[in-house]
Amino acid sequence: MIPLVRFAILLAPDLAPSGAGRGEHMTSEHPSSEHSSAEHPSSGSRESLDFVRQIIETDRAAGKHGSRVHTRFPPEPNGYLHVGHAKSICLNFGLAQQYGGTCNLRFDDTNPTKEEQEYVDAIQDDIRWLGFDWGDNLFFASDNFQRLYDDAVRLVELGKAYVDSLTPDEIKDYRGTIHAPGRESPHRDRSVAENLDLLTRMRHGEFAEGTHCLRAKIDMAHPNLNMRDPVMYRIRKAHHHRTGDAWCIYPMYDWAHGQCDSYEGITHSICTLEFEHHRPLYDWFLDNLGIHHPQQIEFARLQITYTVLSKRKLLELVQDGLVDGWDDPRMPTIRGMRRRGYTPEALRKFCAHIGVAKFNSMHEIELLEHFLREDLNKTSQRRMAVLDPIELVITDWPEGKVDTLTAVNNPEDESAGTREVPFGGRLYVERDDFLEDAPKKWFRLAPGKEVRLRYGYYVTVHGVEKDAAGNVVRLLATHDPESRGGETPDGRKVRGTIHWVSAEHAVRFEARLYDRLFSVENPNKVEEGQDWKQLLSPDSLVVRGGCVGEPSLADLGGGERVQFERTGYFVVDSASRGGEMVFNRTVALKDSWSRQQGRAGG
Ligand code: ATP
Ligand code: MG
Repeated sequence: MIPLVRFAILLAPDLAPSGAGRGEHMTSEHPSSEHSSAEHPSSGSRESLDFVRQIIETDRAAGKHGSRVHTRFPPEPNGYLHVGHAKSICLNFGLAQQYGGTCNLRFDDTNPTKEEQEYVDAIQDDIRWLGFDWGDNLFFASDNFQRLYDDAVRLVELGKAYVDSLTPDEIKDYRGTIHAPGRESPHRDRSVAENLDLLTRMRHGEFAEGTHCLRAKIDMAHPNLNMRDPVMYRIRKAHHHRTGDAWCIYPMYDWAHGQCDSYEGITHSICTLEFEHHRPLYDWFLDNLGIHHPQQIEFARLQITYTVLSKRKLLELVQDGLVDGWDDPRMPTIRGMRRRGYTPEALRKFCAHIGVAKFNSMHEIELLEHFLREDLNKTSQRRMAVLDPIELVITDWPEGKVDTLTAVNNPEDESAGTREVPFGGRLYVERDDFLEDAPKKWFRLAPGKEVRLRYGYYVTVHGVEKDAAGNVVRLLATHDPESRGGETPDGRKVRGTIHWVSAEHAVRFEARLYDRLFSVENPNKVEEGQDWKQLLSPDSLVVRGGCVGEPSLADLGGGERVQFERTGYFVVDSASRGGEMVFNRTVALKDSWSRQQGRAGG
């Protein structure tokens, strides 16, 4: 079971005990939850450091690696980056920044069949967008193919590697299980000369795929299966995105990864927990080659509720057409989140907050959204838009008159200034801001109830028009001319304020209301016989046509973010060109009415 990190207490930060993991509440039973720590905790007490920083500071104090800090972010270019990768990027680049070191970007491009230039370009673009820079330190594992091969030859010469001629299935069969030792291949004791000859001929393309491979000669009875003579090279007559057809044998990830770290002089090789059992193998390779030995440190993968963070699964969603590409705003990819309207700042703050831990846990998506709202609240200009319009006619408004009102762009940021909004006798308001039979605590539009129109006037609905089916199609209201700007000379109290758009000046647009991709908290947990894709939420996208907004919306370009007052944060869809504007909902505002209702219902 993966413990879920509950978000509840974070909502009330002042209630959190000081210094207790920033108010985070863990449902897990692990007593030592190494949780961190601020974005750049340069000089905290040692106890306040996360376990990775503790290791690094201990190493630096001891003068290990000349006290250098050199990390790397090593993506496989076989998909787009997701928010889990953002955690690793923030950690690796963040450590280099904090300790005056370097962070390399290295593409682990050892698998020729799944990798594409498209991914290489997109990954670089996404890392830059997140706010990190590798300078000149861009590397490709494939640049080391010759050096890796030379090192393999050295291990053969040392009698520590051999060419095996079992089939892949036989190799699997000989490997044994966690309960039973493996069996040695009949080819294990080939002479160095014979191994060198076979390896050279493998490299020159004399053999078919699957007929031979190179294996490390370690221990077929080793309790760790990774140590049972792992395969180092296999024959693949495949074209590589960088080396073309120069090679027909390709290194296994496990043979390449540790050495690439070593060649680049990495001091702290930070990876996710599943590589813990590979560490003894990496150590074995480095020790037997006698080359620079980085320290590997494993941390827990990021998992978030209501989504999946696995490139394989995300690729499947794209390939099956279940989402609109890698940049579908519902995807947890950096691409998708960018198009959804996320800010790099929000992602960095989230990653800094969750910190690094040594055990797997799942974070609630609400936590991510909290950091998103917090940032957008500070940075987004406010606009008025009505997503489900119904007409409101002010019957006592002077014919043809248009008033120009001044609206504040961002109450959180004075420098954002003000704008002018036209107000006329025919407006649009939200359909659900009107109730014909309203309860006592309803402070929005209802017959006889006075309501403030934001920045405008007090209005009172006195009649409705209905269609043949009895649906309300138009509201008729009067206004108080003395209430312009939201107050009256007599200081009359009006509880409700609603947003509106002047019908004559309205900009029309389509709103895409995005929600959680999956309908269950943990879509990785599937019942027997169930497909994880059946857990996709049917409500993850609602397209609303016929929305209206104030005229200034027309000035916004692709990627620009706004807060539609009382509704949510939106971004102009970057892929919408020409025609009607499209706004993607980044995240809804918290709706105080539904919260109240929720409370009332217990
Ligand atoms: P996936 O399982 O999604 O395919 P991966 O681990 O195969 O991911 P890589 O391209 O190999 O993807 O990952 C690059 C780096 O990002 C690795 O160091 C990996 O450990 C790290 N990483 C990947 N997923 C996560 C995650 N969910 N949380 C934290 N770090 C991650
Ligand atoms: Mg991987």
